Amino acid sequence: MENINLIKGWEVIIGLEVHAQIATKSKLFSSSPTDFGAEPNKHVSFYDAAMPGMLPVLNTYAVDQAIKTGLAINGKINRISRFDRKNYFYPDLPSGYQITQMFFPIITGGYIDIVLQDGSNKRLNIHHIHMEQDAGKSVHDMSPGYSYIDLNRAGIPLMEIVSEPDMRSSYEAVQYVKSLRNILKYIGACDCNMEKGNLRVDANISIHKPNTPFGNRAEIKNINSTKFLGEALDYEIQRQILEIEAGNRIPQETRLFDAHTGETRTMRSKEDADEYRYFPDPDLKPLILEQSRIDKMKSELPELPESKKRRFINDYKLTEFDASVLVEDKIVADYYEKAVNASKTPKESAKLIANWILVELFAFLNKKNKNISELLFPIEYMAYLVDLIQDKTISGKIAKTVFASMIETNNNPRDIVKKLGLEQIQDDSVIKHAIEEVLKNNPKQLEQYKAGKVALFGFFVGQTMKALQGKGNPEMINNILMEVLDKK
Ligand code: ADP
Ligand code: MG
Repeated sequence: MENINLIKGWEVIIGLEVHAQIATKSKLFSSSPTDFGAEPNKHVSFYDAAMPGMLPVLNTYAVDQAIKTGLAINGKINRISRFDRKNYFYPDLPSGYQITQMFFPIITGGYIDIVLQDGSNKRLNIHHIHMEQDAGKSVHDMSPGYSYIDLNRAGIPLMEIVSEPDMRSSYEAVQYVKSLRNILKYIGACDCNMEKGNLRVDANISIHKPNTPFGNRAEIKNINSTKFLGEALDYEIQRQILEIEAGNRIPQETRLFDAHTGETRTMRSKEDADEYRYFPDPDLKPLILEQSRIDKMKSELPELPESKKRRFINDYKLTEFDASVLVEDKIVADYYEKAVNASKTPKESAKLIANWILVELFAFLNKKNKNISELLFPIEYMAYLVDLIQDKTISGKIAKTVFASMIETNNNPRDIVKKLGLEQIQDDSVIKHAIEEVLKNNPKQLEQYKAGKVALFGFFVGQTMKALQGKGNPEMINNILMEVLDKK
């Protein structure tokens, strides 16, 4: 594992802080809604606006989601955790402090396994997960002379998932975020809509020579897509190498990624540690979790992407790659399994159904810019289509015609085959007759074949298939042609 990712002798070190908005209807310490896209300052309670005397009430559902997340990443759920105040001034923070979990986070440890380009697995460790409130938003583009404050986001519950500095390339970092996002979506702890800012990544990156201490890191703030994450890290790796090789040092600093230029630039220095004067929030008791509550969350955990993938590989004999793509989205994975179960011969059809979904169906969805839940034909039809191939009613080639008609009309593939007369020709005598005709009409090729040009066999197969309008059973054509040619 060591040193395979060296770039000009430099090893890249990456650690990520992922901010995941907890999927819950109300804020962390007030009952204001968390709905996205509301009119500014529509969802602001007296507590969110930090009116004097208002007290926080902890959202227990949000806590449950953090517990589930901790279980899903194999972390340790701390029976006692605590909320602390992080004090700083900013216009979008009316209380003058953010409530977070600095000293005793709810989850410690855990890991995520990712698949590397060569197919091997790598375990990336998680340092801890803590809960905290989001801040409000300053709006600078509504008026040339003023800035406005929107507090709808103030107090929205977040989990900050902090990794160990275990990643060694931008690829690993992107895979980590993708896996983490899948897990969060599976358990329903976060919607992970990166465009809506449900999942934001701060990427810490440094370079050093192997077997020397880590270098100074730059922290790239608020990245909101995996594509930008990859681009920002790749840019930053090159920048840091150029700087150091030019004899400069990398200062500890916070940087921003500009998606238009593909570059990162300095936002503020981090050379002097900020003084936030953290202390336990006197308005909140320590968070104490009963073991029974943790056990209940554990029992409610769904099958996670990694184990679903393993099961698909074992039960359905899928390749690692196909299984990975199918489990990436729970809706697709569920669609696939329902289709398999609807087949007359689930075991035999499973691999073929996966192929049809991953190749033909995905191509169609991509072209139409739709997702799988928008399909209008019942899931079972996908199985019926494959059943028709399996029981040799149609060939794989004809199945493409049937599929095209199915997604166009939403009709049952069985009916389509009947209506269009696409049943495979399985009658020996019909096939034999077609072959005799083909040989009669192509005497020159037949002579050449007999003279040893055996490659012409494929030509005769093709001509026979054409004569049968693509409906001949390919296996039977092969066998009968062999017999006929033997006798010539
Ligand atoms: P801070 O409190 O300043 O944010 P932390 O020690 O909590 O710093 O680390 C934040 C993140 O930075 C973690 O994900 C960690 O893995 C990562 N990190 C720490 N040191 C380095 C380094 N030298 N290079 C890259 N990432 C690092
Ligand atoms: Mg940090």
